[in-house]
Amino acid sequence: MPSSTSVDLTHHLSTETRLRKPNPMKAIWRLTRRKPKMISLANGDPHFSLYPIRRVEFEVASVGEDIENPVQTWRTSGPSAPSQRFVSTTDGPSSLPLKSALQYSAGAGLPDAQRAVTELTNHYHSPPDHHTTLTLGNSDGVAKCFRLLGEPGDHFLADEFSFSSLTNAPLSHGIKWVSVKIDQGGLVPEDLERILSNWNEEEQGRRPHVLYTVPCGQNPTGCTLSVERRKKIYALAQRFDFIIIEDDPYYYLQYESPDDNVDCTSKDFKFIPSFLSMDVDGRVMRVDSFSKIMAPGMRLGWITSNFAFHDALVTLTDSSTHHPHAFGQIFITEMLFAEGGWSIAGFDRWVRSLRDEYKRRRDFFVDSFYNEVARSGYASAELPEAGMFLWMKVHLQKHPRFRTYKNGDGNAPGPKTNTKELMEELFERCLDGGVVVMPASVFLVPEAAKTTDEDPIEDRLNFFRLTFAGPEDTMVPALEILGQVLKEFFTEK
Ligand code: PMP
Ligand code: PLP
Repeated sequence: MPSSTSVDLTHHLSTETRLRKPNPMKAIWRLTRRKPKMISLANGDPHFSLYPIRRVEFEVASVGEDIENPVQTWRTSGPSAPSQRFVSTTDGPSSLPLKSALQYSAGAGLPDAQRAVTELTNHYHSPPDHHTTLTLGNSDGVAKCFRLLGEPGDHFLADEFSFSSLTNAPLSHGIKWVSVKIDQGGLVPEDLERILSNWNEEEQGRRPHVLYTVPCGQNPTGCTLSVERRKKIYALAQRFDFIIIEDDPYYYLQYESPDDNVDCTSKDFKFIPSFLSMDVDGRVMRVDSFSKIMAPGMRLGWITSNFAFHDALVTLTDSSTHHPHAFGQIFITEMLFAEGGWSIAGFDRWVRSLRDEYKRRRDFFVDSFYNEVARSGYASAELPEAGMFLWMKVHLQKHPRFRTYKNGDGNAPGPKTNTKELMEELFERCLDGGVVVMPASVFLVPEAAKTTDEDPIEDRLNFFRLTFAGPEDTMVPALEILGQVLKEFFTEK
C-alpha cells in the first residue's frame, strides 16, 4: 500500500498493551524463517509427517461469469448446482499446502492468508497505509481492539442502541460507555460533537478517545451512515483525537446506492466509502468478518489498522488465541489465489449476488410487515438500507394503559413514561403467541453515563429488532402472530 501515515497515535494504547511483552518463544520461532534451510532445534513444532491429514478439499458455489446469479443458483439447484473445488495437499501444488498451513505461525496469520485479506481490503477500501491482522471473527476482533486501547476508567463512545454482546465486553476492564444519539440516519455527528466539546476532564476524567460504531445496517437499528455523516465523524475524530473502531460485518449487504443514479443491482454500483477508505491519519481500526458473507462457524475475520496498532494486536494474539485455525486460512487463500478458485472478481460476484438475495428477503419481509403488522397503526418501521435487521417501532402512546409522568411532576430524572413495563409485557405476549423478538432494552449501551435527561432513553425503548435473515416461509407466519399479538395488546378491555 502506498505512502505512510504521519500521525503518531500510540498514546491511545492502554497500559495493558504497553506492558505486554512480545512472546519470547515466537521471537525465536521467527528466526527459523530467516533462511530457507534453517534447521530448528528450538521449537516443539509437531512435524508435518505426523499430521493425520493429507488432503483437504472444499467444494464451493460456482461464481463463473456464465452464472448470472450465483447465490440463487446455489440455493435453488441443490446438489446439481455448479460448483468449484479447491484442494490443499500436504506438500502442494496448492496455493497454501497443508504442510505449512497446519504448522504454528505468527499472530497476524499465515503470510498467504494475510495477503488474501489485504487484497480484499485494498480492492474495496484502498486505505493509504494499513496492515491486516487475522482474527476469529468480529467478536474477537472488536474485543481485541477494546483491550488494545482501553484503560480502566476510560470512556468509550457508542450508538445509544448498540450490539450488546460487544459493548458488554470491555466493562470488566473498567471501561465506561457514553452513548451518542441516533436518528433514522444512524449516529448523529452533532450529538457526538456536543458530548466531546462539553466534556470536562477535571470532573469526568479523560475525554472519550474511542468510538465503537457499526456503519452499515447497524445492529440493532438497521441504520446506515451517509457519506456526509462519515466525513463529519472522521473530522471530529481528527479534531478531538479519537480512534474509530469500524465494526462492519454487513458492509457487503448494502441495498441502496449512495449514488441515486445507480441501481444497487447494477454492476456499476459502488459500495459506500468506509471510514477506513478516508483514514489519512491511521485512526480507524476496521474490523471485517467472513461470518455474514461465508458462514459464521468459519470464525474468521481480520482487522485493518495502522502499523503500530497492528504490531500490538499481533503481540496480543501471540499471547492469547494465536493465529486462526489452518482450515479457514487455507479456504480464503485457495478461494482467492488457487487456479480455478474464485479470485477477487468471483468473490465480488458472490457478495453482490448475496446482497441481491438479502435485498429480496428484505423487500418480502417489509411487504409482509406492512400487511400483517404496520397496517393496524400500532407499529411502523423505516426501510433498512443495509444489513439484516428491521427496527420496529411500537406506537405505545395508543395503548390504553400508556402513562406519562409516572414520576410525579415530570421534572424528576429518569423515565417519564411506563414504556419499559409495557414493552416487557408485550415481549412476554409475543413469546406466548409463539414468536421471539429482540427487545430494544437488550441493546442499551450498558451503564452508559447520562449525557442528557431531557429525552430519557428508558422512554425510547418502544422498539423490537426483527431479522429478515431467515427463510421466507417462516416470515409470514411469524409476522401474522406478531400482528395478532399487537392487536390484542392494544385493544384489551
Ligand atoms: N501450553 C503448553 C505447556 C505448551 O507446551 C503449548 C504448546 N507448545 C501450549 C500451551 C500451546 O498450545 P496450543 O497450540 O494448543 O495453543
Ligand atoms: N459485530 C456486529 C455489529 C454484529 O452484528 C455481529 C454479528 O451478529 C458481530 C460483530 C459478530 O460477528 P462475528 O461472527 O464475526 O464474531
